[in-house]
Amino acid sequence: MAESQKTATYKVVADAGGGRVFRFYCDISGELCCVTKPIRADTEEAALEIAWDKEGKWEFNLCPKCGKYVSSAMFNVNAGLCLDCAPWEDEYPSFCHHCGVRLQEPDACFCPICGARLQVGGTDGKEGAAE
Ligand SMILES: [Zn+2]
Ligand SMILES: [Zn+2]
Repeated sequence: MAESQKTATYKVVADAGGGRVFRFYCDISGELCCVTKPIRADTEEAALEIAWDKEGKWEFNLCPKCGKYVSSAMFNVNAGLCLDCAPWEDEYPSFCHHCGVRLQEPDACFCPICGARLQVGGTDGKEGAAE
């Protein structure tokens, strides 16, 4: 068997109705990407399989290089790899690397949706751009 993981990072929460609710997290950002419906199964493993197959995996991109499951925000769509393997270049990205929204303004410095800084390689979020 390969060492690569079968699902994204997750947490299980017991549901009041006797099921298990899975929360799947992006492997890079740790962002909560998917909360499943309560799932009933004999074992946690079985429930996880259902949760991942029916709901979880549709919210993630699997990086073919490192095998991480990442949210669309942490996936370089141009390269088809996660941002760990293929960080955004200095060039203007076509997607916000934080929330994953498609960008329309060619000269925006910050994402209009989440406010993330779009140019990478510069100062790391420090203020004082007016010079
Ligand atoms: Zn990767
Ligand atoms: Zn954004």
